[in-house]
Amino acid sequence: MIEKIYDRILHRNPGEKEFHQAVWEVLESLEPVFARRPELLDESLIERLCEPERQIIFRVPWSDDSGKTHVNRGFRVEFNSALGPYKGGLRFHPSVNLGIIKFLGFEQTFKNALTGMPIGGGKGGSDFDPKGRSDAEVMRFCQSFMTELYRHLGEYTDIPAGDIGVGEREIGYLFGQYRRITNRWEAGVLTGKGVLWGGSQARSEATGYGLVVFTAEMLKTRGESLEGKRVVVSGSGNVAIHAMEKARQLGAVPIACSDSGGYVVEEKGIDLELLKEVKLAERGRLSAYAERSGARFVPDGRVWEVPCEVALPSATQNELDRDDAATLVRNGVLAVGEGANMPTTPEGVRVLREAGVLFGPGKAANAGGVATSALEMQQNASRDSWTFEHTEARLTEIMRHIHDLCHTTAERYGRPGDYVAGANIAGFELVERGMVAQGLI
Ligand code: NDP
Repeated sequence: MIEKIYDRILHRNPGEKEFHQAVWEVLESLEPVFARRPELLDESLIERLCEPERQIIFRVPWSDDSGKTHVNRGFRVEFNSALGPYKGGLRFHPSVNLGIIKFLGFEQTFKNALTGMPIGGGKGGSDFDPKGRSDAEVMRFCQSFMTELYRHLGEYTDIPAGDIGVGEREIGYLFGQYRRITNRWEAGVLTGKGVLWGGSQARSEATGYGLVVFTAEMLKTRGESLEGKRVVVSGSGNVAIHAMEKARQLGAVPIACSDSGGYVVEEKGIDLELLKEVKLAERGRLSAYAERSGARFVPDGRVWEVPCEVALPSATQNELDRDDAATLVRNGVLAVGEGANMPTTPEGVRVLREAGVLFGPGKAANAGGVATSALEMQQNASRDSWTFEHTEARLTEIMRHIHDLCHTTAERYGRPGDYVAGANIAGFELVERGMVAQGLI
């Protein structure tokens, strides 16, 4: 039955391979739910869940510093608002297409449900590449992007945030244009804002910090901790850097990270202050970090070759495949926590799970970012601003709750220790209850 439904979804969404992959991963986990509650199949719940409520595609014209005109494509997929307004980031990367935004929006719906906060799922972005562009070019692009997008947003409708290629700079330009067009200082319309103008403390840190809290909770179920563990991370952006920072705070040693040009290894531990300066402040390359720190730089290599006990894929989708997983297992990895969305291929997940490695899927393990975005919305709604400590304490509490929810749900369905099943089933049960209660819409 599930295969038949999946075939229809493939047919309706041709060529969207990442979306197909994300849908199949969820459907596969849900078989035991449908076995217990076959009536859910009669209500076409899967078909409704897999069809976004709204998909917006638009032209984004802008001119570069030399006056040349460029045309990019903008997307916003408003996936599911059963539990709250659409919420999810914007990605600016040349690889962006509708299938990628749909996979991200689909995942986001379950992730947001797991946080226990009143937020639905959405995602957006553009095939614009901010790399190598001046601030003025990025600003003009963001202004053009928002000139169309603003009419679809609102604090009770749809609230974007950052993702790959969209950080505080881009959110600033987007917010400025929204405010200018609407003549409203509506802080709750975007999250990831600067703390000075309505942002939340700990939002930049939240995804990486939350990922490490979740990973530590998984290790705890086996009587282990992060103390003294070698940690390898892919990526060196927002999520990767803050994951390494929290891992170090909890006694682990982050020894390697990467960007699209290669990876660095530093057995004594990555110099995070220098890395932040190079990657976040200067928007430089990892090779430049290696030149300044003396770390070993491996161009074009696979960061998963570096032996470690904990691996945190935190760059992009499908970046850890079957061979990488086998290498990690051979080198004695204990836990893999996904900072990125769907970074591990289905074959990679299978290899890790068969070897008994603890595996935290992104929709649970990286939910700290969106959870803290919801805390930012709470602060905006009450015109308040919390301390870093208070916000981080809330984040930690939410991550522990998500971990326990996934863990107990997996047990309830006879799959102890299977966080993929736990996250998919728990997320589905929450969204499904909201959808059923609100009738056929
Ligand atoms: P950033 O843009 O800050 O950093 C992305 C990092 O990943 C960079 O080091 C980048 O390298 C690398 N990377 C991106 N795409 C590729 C690619 N195709 N091949 C190789 N390396 C790549 O993004 P974030 O840290 O915000 O996001 C990273 C991941 O985490 C994404 O999957 C995102 O969806 C997920 N995520 C982010 C959240 C957030 O709060 N920001 C929340 C939840 C999930 P380079 O600079 O060379 O391109």
